[in-house]
Amino acid sequence: MVASAVRVILAALALLALADVPAQAKEAQPMAKPHPVRWSIAIHGGAGTMARDKLPPERQAAYRAALGHALEAGAAVLRSGGSALDAVEAAAVVLEDDPHFNAGRGAVFTYNGINELDAAIMDGRNRAAGAVAGVTHTKNPVRLARAVMEHGPHVFLSGAGADEFAREHGVEQASPDWFATPERWRQLQELKTRQLGWFDVDLKYGTVGAVAVDGQGHVAAATSTGGLTGKRWGRIGDSPVIGAGTYADDRACAVSATGTGEFFIREGAAHEICARMRLLGEAPQAAADKVIAEIAGMGGEGGVIVAAPDGRTAFAFTSGMFRARADSRGRHEVAIFADEP
Ligand code: ASP
Repeated sequence: MVASAVRVILAALALLALADVPAQAKEAQPMAKPHPVRWSIAIHGGAGTMARDKLPPERQAAYRAALGHALEAGAAVLRSGGSALDAVEAAAVVLEDDPHFNAGRGAVFTYNGINELDAAIMDGRNRAAGAVAGVTHTKNPVRLARAVMEHGPHVFLSGAGADEFAREHGVEQASPDWFATPERWRQLQELKTRQLGWFDVDLKYGTVGAVAVDGQGHVAAATSTGGLTGKRWGRIGDSPVIGAGTYADDRACAVSATGTGEFFIREGAAHEICARMRLLGEAPQAAADKVIAEIAGMGGEGGVIVAAPDGRTAFAFTSGMFRARADSRGRHEVAIFADEP
């Protein structure tokens, strides 16, 4: 009798102790748990050998202001509940319209003295993608890439046909003068006079890109460029090549690249970063660092921006990159040089 009463009391005490466990566990948690990141966006404005003495303070300030402006255009979309796809397009359009960057207005000249523009956009929800190369009359090539993605049976259009598709779908056109700037013209003359190599980064940096994750956890990527100063023979770089300069997959991440395009094509850089995250479970920074190191090992240079569905973003580059990022927790960074946080 006494023994069974003791057993009952012991069992009751054990139950009480068990009931207490969650309360103890709760107390062990930090008091103010940070909110999860609801949305985030990262942008780039090209990579290259960025040295402080080569970029006077006024120019640094102008680039930082331009990057901040584009970042805000994308962040505003996400803040108001918009999609990652709309955010990357909005940010890329601002950068295309800004003559500081090698995309849209301010694009570099080909050897024959014209602006041939490449762009791509990709939606991580369903891996839908649109890309254009060698466009000469469409004001915002990234908008045309999106029209290709949404309104055509194809993924990749080029040259006069791509501009024709733009006109048929009401995508704004511009005269070639819109894209041309005196500084890019001077750079072409310098390349010819000094007989510089194709990858002379000082004469071409300024490709633009954006990656984002929205409140629903969907990712998207966009990239736009004039390519390389003095490019010939209809050369197309990595920017509009899906999997090389641009990729987005909700199962992994969104990536936009900039740099010596031929190496990014050979590496399949943007897809490779997504594949490392999806198949090896690597973090965005680790995957991006690995792929940039492989590209550097092959002799290439440049950088990438990455956004993952959980809100993490990463920058990786060989020497410097115009870059910026923001998120729903109030992060707001604009940077150029390698030693900036
Ligand atoms: N990746 C671009 C291209 O090769 C150029 C750049 O990003 O600066 O066309």
